[in-house]
Amino acid sequence: MRLTIFIWLIIISSIVLFVVLYLDNEHINEGNKQIEEDAEMPDGLHPEVEAKRDELLQRAEEKGIEVIITEGFRTLERQDELYEQGRTTEGDIVTYAQGGESYHNYGLAIDFALINQDGNITWNTSYDGNNNEKSDWVEVAEIGKDLGFEWGGDWNRFKDYPHLQMDFGLSIHELQNGKRPDIDE
Ligand SMILES: [Zn+2]
Repeated sequence: MRLTIFIWLIIISSIVLFVVLYLDNEHINEGNKQIEEDAEMPDGLHPEVEAKRDELLQRAEEKGIEVIITEGFRTLERQDELYEQGRTTEGDIVTYAQGGESYHNYGLAIDFALINQDGNITWNTSYDGNNNEKSDWVEVAEIGKDLGFEWGGDWNRFKDYPHLQMDFGLSIHELQNGKRPDIDE
């Protein structure tokens, strides 16, 4: 008799446990679905970043500085490829971010360089082509910051002088979790 009660107890608790786990699982799946719906990856620059990029080029030109944009939106594949550079493939290390870890992957970052008087691209941050005794590179960075960009040259952990980004208050972690900045139509 006592054994029968014991067996029934086990059966009932198994059913309860099954139902609880099943419902919980449903709930988790719903959560994931929600994230995936929000998490569509962009395929180009955010329109506001694009507009500010053009404004940056314009304002630099007015100061006698020719800017070239060397990077903008980057696919996850391209980011992973860049990450391998200097690690498993030839060349210098150019990034610490793997696919999904860079603002470039969300269309929120651009990289710039300068075109010097000879018409060549330069990454010389002390170049002063407009002869105003200020580094052209810093002048461009300042225009960028004035337009609302964060400049990689201000970072403490590692300096990324060509890099300008707009995070719209979102961390990489939030972007990876599917949050996206609003786009005003
Ligand atoms: Zn960059």
